[in-house]
Amino acid sequence: MAHNPDTNAVTAGRDGSQPLATPLWATTVWSSEGLDDTASRASSLRAPNYYGRHANPTVSQFENAIADLEGAESAMAFGSGMGAIASIVLAFCNSGSHIVAQNTLYGGTLAFLEGPCRRLGIDVTYVDPSVPGAFSAAIQLGRTMLILAETPSNPRLSICNLTELGAIKGPFTVVDSTLATPLSQRPLDHGINLVMHSATKGIGGHNDAMLGVVAGEKDLIDALWAYGVLHGATASPYDALNGLRGIRTLPVRLRQQSSSALKIANVLQEHPAVSSVMYPHLASHPQYALAKEQMGNGGSLVSFEIHGGLEAIREMFNKLKLVHAATSFGGAETLICHPLTSTHVGLPAEMLATMGVTMGLIRLSVGLEHPDDIIAELTTALSHH
Ligand SMILES: *Cc1c(COP(=O)(O)O)cnc(C)c1O
Repeated sequence: MAHNPDTNAVTAGRDGSQPLATPLWATTVWSSEGLDDTASRASSLRAPNYYGRHANPTVSQFENAIADLEGAESAMAFGSGMGAIASIVLAFCNSGSHIVAQNTLYGGTLAFLEGPCRRLGIDVTYVDPSVPGAFSAAIQLGRTMLILAETPSNPRLSICNLTELGAIKGPFTVVDSTLATPLSQRPLDHGINLVMHSATKGIGGHNDAMLGVVAGEKDLIDALWAYGVLHGATASPYDALNGLRGIRTLPVRLRQQSSSALKIANVLQEHPAVSSVMYPHLASHPQYALAKEQMGNGGSLVSFEIHGGLEAIREMFNKLKLVHAATSFGGAETLICHPLTSTHVGLPAEMLATMGVTMGLIRLSVGLEHPDDIIAELTTALSHH
């Protein structure tokens, strides 16, 4: 019987014979029955009891849970979100390949496309995801291997139409769904080939695990594994354990964070020091209708711009006590960051302008504190402008 997503988060990845809490398999290697058995494990796809870089039971359970939640045949975990992205690109692209990428991607993804990819002769064309047909128009037949999108995008929370993207045939479509988590949207249901997450963020949810994950059809994930086992961005079983624990409480955390985030976005929108507020489920979001249709909740991130430049931002940050100045998101603590001088530091000015990473832009990751306490702190910190 099909259950609600909240229930799936509690049951996902269990195989019936397990203790309720997943055991930690803190081993890198398994002993086998002898020469022939070792040979067979060495040449098996994702052999469960061979060597830690090939598979680990704790990590596999995290992978199975994500596959369940995303409605995927298979999933593969990585040591970080960037480990997942780099492995996808290098598994499916050759020198001379072409990638169509959204122009508003995570800073690390952009740096990877602009640095190592260019150096290896992998070409990238950036497109504006809000322009209908922009992704398919940029495809170079026979050359374009991947289409990379991120929705909502970090840090301005723009939305890309998953159904339009999922209808594209030819290159593999990849969606970074980190900001939404598997509980808010399921890109594979729209026909996307691969969905990936930095599970370091909302999925882990407690700022104690570096973890990435990719889900999709078994053939694609097996191909990714065959490359990934050589790339070596292997997920640690300790982090996979924390990732699994995070999955169990993800629906309740996300519901609380989304409800607080919407309240905070509404208050910020009325504040005289604030010039603009971006939140997917805020009626003033330019893609509000699409965000409501595509996402089950608005997520934990709110972005806003304030008047007064860097000095005003420094002054505001200095007054914060409950809210921490830190770059990650999706955890229990409310975090604030200034993308231009942190997550997006060093990117070319032209790219920053396209992405809307302005001097006044602030990104807030709403935690699990009472929303009134966060609102009181923010409005006090902004009061001098
Ligand atoms: C953080 C993040 C990544 C990178 O993940 P790491 O776990 O930090 O390597 C990729 N995409 C998005 C949208 C992110 O927020």
